[in-house]
Amino acid sequence: VAPSAATPSAARDLARIVGAEHVIERPGREWLTDTSAARGLVGRADAVVLPGSAEQVAEVLAWCYAHGQAVVPRGGGTGYAGGAVPIDGGIVVALGRLREVRELEPSAWRMCVEAGLSTADVHRRARESGLLFAPDPGAAEQSQIGGNVATNAGGPHSFKYGVTGDWVTGLQVAVAPGELIEIGGPIRKDAAGYDLRGLFVGSEGTLGIITAVWLTLVPAPETTLPVLAFYPSVATGCAALRAVFEHGVGAAALEFFDAGTLRAAGATLPGGVPEGAGFALLAEADGAEPEARRIHGELREALGPGSLALQDGAPGALWRWRDTVSGAVTTVQGGKLSEDIVVPVDRIAEAIDGTLEIGRRHGLQACSWGHAGDGNLHSTFLLSPGDLEQLALAELAAEELFDLAIALGGSVSGEHGIGWVKGGALSRQWPPGAVRLHEAIKSSFDPAGLLNPGKKQA
Ligand SMILES: Cc1cc2nc3c(=O)[nH]c(=O)nc-3n(C[C@H](O)[C@H](O)[C@H](O)COP(=O)(O)OP(=O)(O)OC[C@H]3O[C@@H](n4cnc5c(N)ncnc54)[C@H](O)[C@@H]3O)c2cc1C
Repeated sequence: VAPSAATPSAARDLARIVGAEHVIERPGREWLTDTSAARGLVGRADAVVLPGSAEQVAEVLAWCYAHGQAVVPRGGGTGYAGGAVPIDGGIVVALGRLREVRELEPSAWRMCVEAGLSTADVHRRARESGLLFAPDPGAAEQSQIGGNVATNAGGPHSFKYGVTGDWVTGLQVAVAPGELIEIGGPIRKDAAGYDLRGLFVGSEGTLGIITAVWLTLVPAPETTLPVLAFYPSVATGCAALRAVFEHGVGAAALEFFDAGTLRAAGATLPGGVPEGAGFALLAEADGAEPEARRIHGELREALGPGSLALQDGAPGALWRWRDTVSGAVTTVQGGKLSEDIVVPVDRIAEAIDGTLEIGRRHGLQACSWGHAGDGNLHSTFLLSPGDLEQLALAELAAEELFDLAIALGGSVSGEHGIGWVKGGALSRQWPPGAVRLHEAIKSSFDPAGLLNPGKKQA
């Protein structure tokens, strides 16, 4: 795509709002991509602006609305769906300077933070007060809490604790045509109006720009005790997963890794991968010491039948390894196309096998891992960088994966959203009446269609 730059008068206007040093007139690639760069998506922007306050965000939005300029909110740029990529010019509003913790009230289990604070910093600040903010998406040092809210990010511990939106009690948002609003706040319930908070959660920058977030917290569990279980096949592993549900075991996390993933990432797994393993489950028990021990025992009992080995291991090392899995899979061939379909948990074996079958049909190496307890798979096709034919096949394979998810009663996205790369997929899964309501919501929040255009389209 041809590079673009702000006109001198636009740059002057924006500099008046945020300061000239916070306007980037010829943005480099680092502002024009996200994790979807692996599938060749690079956008173009007329300028990037970095506001220093919520009021400046609203002023920038007002300027864009008055001048008919597209606005693309940008958090940490770790999204997989191309949501933060400016597809066809306009102004990227990067939230990275809004990093203040506005309120931290440990005795009331809550905090209010600005949108640009990193997810890891939110975790750290809660931890320092003995509290837990549980949503734990993988790229926590880079992603921002505003981006997490805008994608309703999940993570391994969503199984017990829910996704980001479940922790949001209030939002400050810059809305069209350039006004700062606050909804909810330091309250734990709110049944007053339509659920506007819920609409902004997962809206991927298409309804407004989130500037601050009220979060509810919980006391941090005293102990976490993982169990790693290995199985010869998908079928035996998924039978064990079902047993955890059937026995009513309150696990905090339940992750899975198929054979291809274990081949790619197993070399660095603490304790190693036993001979013959074609599937693994990583579960965790948490709580006060006696409770965590009880659940840990129940997990071992439920996961034992059919397993090749059960290992305990240190939680820190295992979760650090878990964070490296996506990167390790990428290095097998140099690139990958990863999706995040979700299916009812009792259909997950069919989705794992189906991923491999789709890959085989297209001559692509495939594997999957993910949040087994939530039925959420990172179904992945490996790519050689620069091989456009292979990329086209992988895009086709992804379409078939969406059909599979829908046929199994699931959804095309469990946590990454629709963004740009999955545009149009929603209307395959939703009836026309639901699609109509989806579009009506967009046009009532953004009548000129300037907020992240082209994204989250049904
Ligand atoms: C290694 C790795 C592991 C990951 N693991 C997980 C995981 O386990 N679970 C999971 O859910 N995701 C995961 N992700 C995806 C990604 O990290 C999350 O989607 C994250 O929430 C994106 O946050 P971000 O700040 O990087 O947002 P960006 O990528 O910058 O933006 C994502 C979307 O949100 C919008 N947006 C960003 N900030 C704002 C704002 N302040 N106001 C309005 N809109 C905004 C953007 O316009 C875009 O549409 C992973 C990514 C990587 C690279």
